[in-house]
Formats: sequence, structure tokens, C-alpha cells
Amino acid sequence: MKILMISPEVAPFSKVGGLGDMAGSLSKELSLMGHDVRVVTPLYGSVKPSAQRRVALEPLIVHLGGFEQYARVWEERIPGAPESKVYFLEHEKYFGRPEIYEGPWGGHGDNCERFTFMSRAAMDLCHALLWYPDVVHCHDWTSALAPAYLNTTERGNDLGQAASVMTIHNLQHQGIFSKESFAMSGLPADLFKADGFEALGNFNMLKGGLYHASKITTVSPNYAREIKSSEYGCGLDGLLRFRAGDLVGVLNGIDTQVWNPQTDSLLPMRYSRFELDGKGYCKEILQTHFDLDRDHTVPIFAAIARLYDQKGLDWLADIAEGLLKNMRLQLVILGAGDSALENRFRELAAYHPGKVGVHIGYDEALSHLIEAGADFFLMPSRFEPCGLNQMYSMAYGTLPIVRATGGLVDTVEQYQENTGQGTGFLFQEPSAHALYYAIGWANSTYYDRPEDFASLRQNAMSRDFSWKRSAAQYEQVYQWARSARR
Ligand code: ADP
Repeated sequence: MKILMISPEVAPFSKVGGLGDMAGSLSKELSLMGHDVRVVTPLYGSVKPSAQRRVALEPLIVHLGGFEQYARVWEERIPGAPESKVYFLEHEKYFGRPEIYEGPWGGHGDNCERFTFMSRAAMDLCHALLWYPDVVHCHDWTSALAPAYLNTTERGNDLGQAASVMTIHNLQHQGIFSKESFAMSGLPADLFKADGFEALGNFNMLKGGLYHASKITTVSPNYAREIKSSEYGCGLDGLLRFRAGDLVGVLNGIDTQVWNPQTDSLLPMRYSRFELDGKGYCKEILQTHFDLDRDHTVPIFAAIARLYDQKGLDWLADIAEGLLKNMRLQLVILGAGDSALENRFRELAAYHPGKVGVHIGYDEALSHLIEAGADFFLMPSRFEPCGLNQMYSMAYGTLPIVRATGGLVDTVEQYQENTGQGTGFLFQEPSAHALYYAIGWANSTYYDRPEDFASLRQNAMSRDFSWKRSAAQYEQVYQWARSARR
């Protein structure tokens, strides 16, 4: 199949979260399966220069509503997928700045224009290259105009034969703008209606994309169920119930070339489930890194996340004093985001030297060391479409403690005390209390039932979360979308 991905992030070039990982890994896997995969994405100021990148087209004329813009298009491969093509859109005004969605002072005021440009440029690039995909795969609101272009302005030409698949990575972000800004898309004005791009008088990009896509996916089966409810639907649950027959959850995978303790070059010592000495050594190095007490008998509970409401780490901050007073454990936190929460964790580390290690910032290498050196990984998310860190943790023998929501339910198997089965610890209630008890349960398992702890670790490390399975499912979704399109 000829597959066009339109994505605001593509790892390893650009990444804010799981979307970037998924766009990069899925494209790579599909390409290795023999599909002709091409990815369109912005060339942000923060994308590292590369000797392999070459100019593919200059200028690309992009036809926005009532005006034109020009881009230089660069071409490069996804590392590990020699047949893939990533087309970077260079446009100084829109993408020259380093940040993807938000600058240091909040959201970019021109996001509507920036990402309208990205979707429209993807269409115009296909025409310029005379390359017409069978499927266009869009990711979240930033590329949600594309399915509507295929259904309207492009419907009569070769490009309009393509089916579209819209993946919801996080329903909370919908791309809501003033109704006047819809004109910039160049789409027919009558698409601005309740059964389309209009919501509460505003222009809602994601909503229109969900109406127009041939098929809709989201990143885990459980999140696909949840978003049809008012609790998780972020106002779009009615629409998602209406399109329920076209909506399917496909679990994200992990890139096992990057996240594999047997080959991970970022670790001071590698290990496998048959040879765990390296994990013990990584724990030592992690304790040294954060100036923690060098004691291998104390369990380390770690968290790596964007520090926002979604991730529930404010609950960890609420209970941290109690945990440190009543349990023998160490805490390690890596993250950035909400400055009040950042400060709470900084303070915690200052008050508890030797027991708490905190790094505020984004640090890929440190995240690998933490996954390897910790014993437990905390994801008390309020909601979690899929989540990747719990899968990295299991692969690294670090038992996840997660709230029973979204993809966490699909990936972590509850510990059964009577049989020693399971891969981690799940708790239901969205509260600091529930997190406290889950940590207590895990901690007592570590000290009082060491055989169970060891078998949970073995179970977790033997699970297969590679992209192969997910990519095969996307292949089916694409076929399904194409037959619907026909
Ligand atoms: P989300 O996409 O909601 O942020 P995921 O768990 O799906 O959550 O993916 C988060 C990704 O970002 C993971 O690869 C995680 O390791 C990484 N990450 C998040 N914060 C940091 C950080 N401060 N330093 C390094 N990696 C981080």
C-alpha cells in the first residue's frame, strides 16, 4: 500500500510525547513490511541538522483559503527503514521556532494557521510529486483537515481516491479556534456546521476530522470504549457513539530497538530476564546519580512524565511525606511541566536528601537509566489513552503501578497474591489515597513476598509489546478503510 502519514511529531526527529513515538515507529514498521510509507511533518527549529537530509522540492506552493504560502521540502529516511521517506516542511514563519505546540509563554497564537498549512501542504505535495496514496493516516487535531480535503476539494482527482484514517492520541486536545479562522482552510464554507467542523460556535478541527475520516482509531481498545462515555469523551462522545461502528482501538507498541535492556547502549550495563545482574548495577548507578543512599535492599519507585494534571503525579506529591515516613523506599522523579508541581518535587528532594531524587527537565538518556535502575514505576494517570512508559517498564523488569484507566488496563496484568501471576499493580479510584495503598501493596510485596516479586518481574519481562503486532492491525484497518472508501 501507499501510505501517507501526516504528523506534527515524528520520533526521533521531533517529539513531545507518545504521538511522536507512535508516528515514527509505526511508519518504520510498515515500511519494513514492504509498504511505501511517506511522512509529512514540519521542520521545527529544534529538529537536528542531518547530512542525510536533502532538498526534495523548492518551492512547494501551498494553497490556503484565499492566499498562497511557499515551503522548502526536505527528504530523509526514518533511521532503520531505508525505503521510508520523511518530508520535512521548512517554513521559517510557521516552524522556524523550536517548540512544537507551545512556546515559553503558552500556546502559539498562530497554531490554527501553522497546522492548516501542514495539512494543506501534505495535499499539495502529493500533487507536486504525482504520488497518490491509498491511505492517508492523520494524527490528532493538527492533521484533521486532511480527511475533509479528500472528501471535498480533492474528491474529483487522483488524490481524492485515498481513504483516510484518523487516530486519536489524546481527545483532550481538539484544536479549537474562532469560526473566522475556518476560511483559511479553503474548505467549502458549508462544512462549518454541527455535523462537521462547528462546535459551540467555534471551529473544532478534530471534530470535523472525525466526521470526515473513513475510519477512526485510537491507541488502545479500552480507551476506544472510554471515549464513548461522557466521562472521557471531552464533549465529543456523542459523535464517537455515532461513529462507533467505524472506531477501533489498536494498542501502541514500543520500539524494541530503542527500548530493550539487552541492547540499550544508554545503560551502564545491559541485562536480560535470564541475567539480572546488570539491573542491580543500573540501580547502583541511579542511586549514585541522584545522591541516594547506596542500598540495594531499598526499592526505588520512579516516575517519568510530563507534569500535568493527566498524569496524576500531584497525588504522588500529596502523599510523598507519608510514604517516606511510613515505608522504607526511595523516590525518583523525572519530568517537566506545571511549575507549581515542579517546585513541589524540587522541595521534596531538598527535604529528603538520600531518599528522593528529582530532575526537572527532559532527558532521554536519564529516562533509560531510571527505567533500568528502578524497581517500580508509577503511572497514577487520571486518564491514559495508551501510555508507553508502563510497557518500557515491564520490558526493563520494573513493575508498573498504574491506575486502571485507558491503555493501562490493556497492558498491565493485575498481581494475584494467591498465584503470583500478573505483571504489575492496578488501582481503581482516582485519588491520592488509592495511590498510597497501591504503593504500600507493592512495597509489602517487595519485602514480604520476594518470590512473588521475582515472578512478577519475570512475567513482565517476557511480554511482547513490539510494534509488529500493532502494525499488522493497522494494515487491516487500512484495508478496511479502503473498502469503505470504494
Ligand atoms: P504522553 O504521550 O501522554 O506524554 P506516554 O507514556 O504515551 O505519555 O509517552 C511519554 C513519552 O515521553 C515516553 O517515551 C516517556 O519516556 C517520554 N518522556 C516524558 N517526559 C519525559 C522527560 N522529562 N524526560 C525524558 N522522557 C520523557
